[in-house]
Amino acid sequence: MSEFRGVLRPGRGRHRRRRRAPLKAAAAAAVLVAGSAFAVTSMDDQPECDARAGHGGTHDDHRHGSSTAVGACAPRPAGGAQQHRPAEGHGAGHGAPEGANRRPAGGRPAQVGVPDPESGYDRERCGNASGRVLLSLDDWPYNDPERAVRIGAQLQSQGVRAAFFLINKYASQYPQITTTLRRQGHWVGSHTWSHQQLTRLTDQELQDELRNGVPGNFLRPPYGDVGQRETEMAASLGQRVCNWTIDTYDWQQVGGAFRDVDAIRASVREASAEEKTNGVILGHLFSHFPEALPGIIGDLREQGYLMCRNTGPVTEQVPYPLAC
Ligand SMILES: [Zn+2]
Repeated sequence: MSEFRGVLRPGRGRHRRRRRAPLKAAAAAAVLVAGSAFAVTSMDDQPECDARAGHGGTHDDHRHGSSTAVGACAPRPAGGAQQHRPAEGHGAGHGAPEGANRRPAGGRPAQVGVPDPESGYDRERCGNASGRVLLSLDDWPYNDPERAVRIGAQLQSQGVRAAFFLINKYASQYPQITTTLRRQGHWVGSHTWSHQQLTRLTDQELQDELRNGVPGNFLRPPYGDVGQRETEMAASLGQRVCNWTIDTYDWQQVGGAFRDVDAIRASVREASAEEKTNGVILGHLFSHFPEALPGIIGDLREQGYLMCRNTGPVTEQVPYPLAC
């Protein structure tokens, strides 16, 4: 895939979501991050439009100058309605404790927060049926671990809830980071113990990678690479797979450097409505993605999308459907 495709594509089809990141490039990025450190730039303080009231809160919509119906900052693009359900009608956990767990209707008794594999669960959307956009940040901020909580604090100040998927061989050395992120209102999931490509592991190795991930029920497999065996193993351990609809390619090296903020931002801005509505954005803690977040959030708001709202501290159990 061209490194510049993210900038040039006008509208991408659903099929894209099934593609995997080039493994060699991803692995190279993972290796090279050890030598990189990036400061987080300041974000503006505007909270997510209706973060406070939960519904219909357009009172702080000074940026767009357009108050619209329930839970919106601005009109949604017409094309974005395909899988959209209005936030108001989304009863998935609003007002319920974050740790509230749901079982899918019908099917076998499910693990907490883990849908029946037969239920049609869309792992690229992670159970997000809110219409809103969920930001996710993977891996680890290698030579600046506290960067994770600074990013968390800035997103929290904007009323935005994100999902952090941490590699546990690092995260386990800094347990306060996971605790702080959850207190800041962010979901923290497992990115396995040591970021192996799960489909290449023996059953025992697979089980070890999953069991020793960050405790919880939310799993992001390295490279998004899972098949039936991995999905079922995860479910048996009470974990549900969460991939993404939009890859920002922030992990990709261009001329020896990670993609810059403008390219990352364009990847999101130019993604299709289908990828954004109920969507999940993939970025990383070691790249320029955190610096791109203010621009990404601003662009999405201007396009009429809403971010997953931060409603306060969460537990290690991520609700299904997501409470965005
Ligand atoms: Zn990763």
